[in-house]
Amino acid sequence: MPFALIFYLTARRSLSASQNPLLATNPASMSLPPDRLDRFARHIVLPEVGGMGQDRLTRAHVVLVGMGGIGNPALQYLAGAGVGRLTLVDSDVIEASNLQRQTLFAASDVGRAKAEVAAEWTHRFDPALEVEAQVLRVTRDNARELVRDADIVLDGCDNFATRLAVSDACVAEGVPLTSAALGRFQGQVANFAGHREGQPCYRCFVGDAFDAEDCDTCAEQGVLGAMVGMVGAFAAMHGLRALLENVSTLGDPQWGQLYLFNGMKPDMRSMRIAKDAGCSGCGSA
Ligand SMILES: [Zn+2]
Repeated sequence: MPFALIFYLTARRSLSASQNPLLATNPASMSLPPDRLDRFARHIVLPEVGGMGQDRLTRAHVVLVGMGGIGNPALQYLAGAGVGRLTLVDSDVIEASNLQRQTLFAASDVGRAKAEVAAEWTHRFDPALEVEAQVLRVTRDNARELVRDADIVLDGCDNFATRLAVSDACVAEGVPLTSAALGRFQGQVANFAGHREGQPCYRCFVGDAFDAEDCDTCAEQGVLGAMVGMVGAFAAMHGLRALLENVSTLGDPQWGQLYLFNGMKPDMRSMRIAKDAGCSGCGSA
C-alpha cells in the first residue's frame, strides 16, 4: 500500500470521531461540543494548535477591513478555522470585474454590497459563527470604534488613506494589525503591534506621504486572481499566529516582520520594519 494512502487511512481513522481519546482527554477541547470537536479535529490534533488553540479561536473576534481580493480568501480561512466572531467592513458593491479574483461572489451578486454577501456566505458556511456586515467606508472618525472590540484587525483594503486610518486606530486602541496588500504580482503581509514598546506600526513602514492619496489600486495596475488567493490565505495564517500568541506554538506573530512575495519568479523574502521614533501613529509607544 502506498505510504500516502496508509497515512490518509491512519489519519482518517484517528480523527473521525469526537470520542477520539486524544481529543477527549484534552481539557481545553472538552469545552467544545462534539460537533465542533469533529469539525476542527484536524486543527486540534496539531500540537501547534491543539485544544487550547482551537478554544482561543472560537472565542476570538476578527475585524476584516476590505472584503475584496484579500478579504475573500482571508475570510474563508478564518471562518474555516472557527474564529467565533467576524466583522466584515466594506463600502463597495460587487462589480463584474471583481469576479476574476473575489471568489466568494457570483455573477448574480453584482450590484450588491460586498460585506453583506460575504456575511451571508459565512452564515451558510458555519451558522455557529457570529458575523456582522458593516457597509461603510473606514475613516479617521469611525476607525477607533470599529476596531475597539477586536482581538486582531485584518486589513486587506485597497487604499493607503484607509490603511493608515486603520493602523492609527489599532495603535490607539491597543489592537494588533495584520496588514496585507498586493499589486500585479507583488504581495506584502506583516503583523504589527505598534502599541507595544519597541514595535513598529504600519505607518512606520509607509510614512505619512500617502494619507490623502488612493493609489496602487487594482484598476490601475491589474492583479492576477491566484495571487490574491495566496496573499489572502497567508494573511489569514498570519492572523491566526497573532490570535494564538501565548496560547500555542503557532502563536509566533513575528511582529514587524514584512513578508514580500514575488509571484512572477516566484519567491518570498522577509525584512524587519524598524520602529520610527518620530512616527505620528506610534511614536510615543
Ligand atoms: Zn509607527
